[in-house]
Amino acid sequence: MAMLSFLGAIQQVTGSCYLLETQAGAKILLDCGMRQGRRDDESGNRAPFAFDPKAVDAVVLSHAHLDHSGLLPRLVAEGFTGPVHATDATCDLLELMLLDSAHIQEKDAEWENKWRQRVGKPLIQPLYTQLETERMLKQCHAHHYAQAFEVAPGVSLTFYDAGHILGSAIVQLEVTEQGQTRRLVFSGDLGNVQTPLMHAPTALEQTDVLLMESTYGDRDHRNVEETVEELAEILKQAHKDGGNVLIPSFAVGRTQDLIYHLGQLYQQGRVPQQAVFLDSPMAIRANDIYYRFLDQLDISESALQHFGGPNRLHLDTWLPILRPTLSPEESMAINRVKSGAIIIAGSGMCTGGRILHHFKHNLWRRECHLVIAGFQARGTLGRMLVEGAESVKLLHQRIAVNAQVHTLGGFSAHAGQSALLEWAGHFKNTPALYLIHGELEKMQTLQTALQERLKLEARIPAPGDRISL
Ligand SMILES: [Zn+2]
Repeated sequence: MAMLSFLGAIQQVTGSCYLLETQAGAKILLDCGMRQGRRDDESGNRAPFAFDPKAVDAVVLSHAHLDHSGLLPRLVAEGFTGPVHATDATCDLLELMLLDSAHIQEKDAEWENKWRQRVGKPLIQPLYTQLETERMLKQCHAHHYAQAFEVAPGVSLTFYDAGHILGSAIVQLEVTEQGQTRRLVFSGDLGNVQTPLMHAPTALEQTDVLLMESTYGDRDHRNVEETVEELAEILKQAHKDGGNVLIPSFAVGRTQDLIYHLGQLYQQGRVPQQAVFLDSPMAIRANDIYYRFLDQLDISESALQHFGGPNRLHLDTWLPILRPTLSPEESMAINRVKSGAIIIAGSGMCTGGRILHHFKHNLWRRECHLVIAGFQARGTLGRMLVEGAESVKLLHQRIAVNAQVHTLGGFSAHAGQSALLEWAGHFKNTPALYLIHGELEKMQTLQTALQERLKLEARIPAPGDRISL
């Protein structure tokens, strides 16, 4: 019988990775994610794979976020030569995200080697390079939603829209062995029904084994309309206080939603700021990919009108004060703006990127406002800020946190508890259910809710656990 190993994003939210091995010997890897967060978590990215990359036949990728895809170049560098199956939009986003990630890896290694050289320590190699990443990208195979194809002998794969970010998929695998077919559904990251641009996660009705994410297994998100109201209030207050508004944001997904919401407020005359700086080359490029796949988004006819009609999909009519800043010079020029600016920049959990420079120039100023709009993993700078740190260390200096910190709960790209229960409730049979991609306490809360409300017995696997399908 086919076996499934739980290798990553087990009792935590990053490093998504599962291995399916069929009786006939096919090895299919589901996701090959990077660990993000604490330093010791990230050092896990350099640990040897729990399997031989050369022996893997195919990779199936749920979506482009790095915590699901970020180790693919390393997998290829260590000998994986097979196809990487993903949706068409995921393949495009992947190129953007992995090349950026490789660039960061190279820069980080260069930086670290500078001090290593000074103290006489051995030099390190980057986790992977842009060259290795380019090689990996050639192995991508693009697919449409809801079209089954054979991924290995006796294994059929279908992607369904997960509604999380553009291209995100729920993965359904059917393994036929000795005339018997067993079905495995891997939820990937399930989207938040309330996000403006994405469809609801596809409801599936049959599976034998179900792996379900549980990032927000313990709670529901705030309502989106209320959250937009909250954002409008913050903009008003920041205008009164005479400071800037900083919004750390994931380049893919969150940023496009934010632009949508800010545009909506702008159309209502409720953005008193003079400029919205989109200070993220990756987000600017991700916007272009979103436009290319507009047909996959859930944009109503009326929203399309706002965007300027199908042939004029330029944000200059939706949010005319949007200023995309591509070059480092343009980015640095923002430092001179002391008030009246909304600054959207990466990274989403404040672990790097241009947002750190804006923190340096704004976080210590009482009149500024910081808006945290997404999940902040344990150990990240974003989590420290959410938890009320009085000062933080960044760019080699300690900065006082005097700006007002706001946490907006309604813009999440993940399903909240009720939505997870609803999605799991669509299955007509009773699958063997495993909770993945969540912190332990949140999983336990979800486990109880699944039992109480759906009479579903959910298991919480430990890292390295193996089950038969
Ligand atoms: Zn994701």
